[in-house]
Amino acid sequence: MITSRAFRSLSKRYVCLQCRQFSSTKPALSSEQAAEIKKLGVVGAGQMGLGIALTASRMAKVPVTVIDTSQQSLDKGFAFADKLLSKDVQKEKLSQSDADAARQRLTSSTKMDDLGDVDMVIEAVPEIVDLKKSIFTPLAQICPPHAILATNTSSISITLIAAATTKDPTDLSASSRVISTHFMNPVPVQKGVEIIAGLQTSASTLATAVEFCKRMGKIPSQSADTPGFLANRILMPYINEAIICLETNVGHAEDIDSIMKNGTNVPMGPLQLADFIGLDTCLAIMNVLHSQLGDSKYRPSVRLRQMVDAGWLGKKSGRGFYVY
Ligand code: NAD
Repeated sequence: MITSRAFRSLSKRYVCLQCRQFSSTKPALSSEQAAEIKKLGVVGAGQMGLGIALTASRMAKVPVTVIDTSQQSLDKGFAFADKLLSKDVQKEKLSQSDADAARQRLTSSTKMDDLGDVDMVIEAVPEIVDLKKSIFTPLAQICPPHAILATNTSSISITLIAAATTKDPTDLSASSRVISTHFMNPVPVQKGVEIIAGLQTSASTLATAVEFCKRMGKIPSQSADTPGFLANRILMPYINEAIICLETNVGHAEDIDSIMKNGTNVPMGPLQLADFIGLDTCLAIMNVLHSQLGDSKYRPSVRLRQMVDAGWLGKKSGRGFYVY
């Protein structure tokens, strides 16, 4: 739990979640006081999980065990990691020996029991609340009692996920180690990471997660534990509105993307971005915003629902607003 004393010395950009006020000093716990992460686990070898594992191995130079229930996802993810590493070697951004070392630090498994020796685990399974909870209950048992239990959720309450680690809500031994490290896609490229503490999260968990994200070369920002946090509270209604524009014939997909790309200087338009994120993930986030905040402005567009019903999930399924 972040006590008021711990909060008094939290940083300028760090927020006390209980009183929802920002303070103006540096984090209470320095990098020396924050627990050191020597081994990482990642649950979910999709586009985010693999990106997190590869970046941690390459930048923080820690061994990473990647867990997925699907051997096919693991094979696909590791093949993608190989491709990214060899591309960076070709572009002379990385030496062959550093690429080989980064690759050797990555191991895969289909058994969560293999996370018994990690100092931190980052969960990146699909954005389904019951699935996330079903991962955190065993994680609290399998991982060592000091391990940080992080989630990459885009929108789901960290407090709710933390509560799944115990049957006794007064026992904070596991729930105080739960936090969100919300990496952005693609993880090896995007600098920002959103850190979200739940009601139960301890100050040392927060400091350790922030320090580890910095070791991964990221720039952490903190948001309060509210639906969609900051990044998706802002981004998803923008994407959803672009889909509503398509659905109501305000413009063709190419024109919607072109005007936003060339008119607001973003690297890609909202529909292409939605395809890259995954339309199932976009819908899941809109559903959380709509159901939790109760405002009709967050209603997911009919077209977005239809696309997901059709199995057109974007780049990862070969078809979304565009064909890949
Ligand atoms: P994804 O669909 O690409 O990958 C999910 C992976 O989880 C799959 O490989 C699947 O086999 C695996 N999985 C499913 N059930 C599992 C289980 N019980 N145990 C272990 N593995 C399991 O999804 P993604 O886009 O990588 O998203 C993962 C998380 O990251 C979601 O919470 C999402 O909201 C969040 N996120 C996504 C993006 C994005 O742009 N896609 C950005 C930030 C955060």
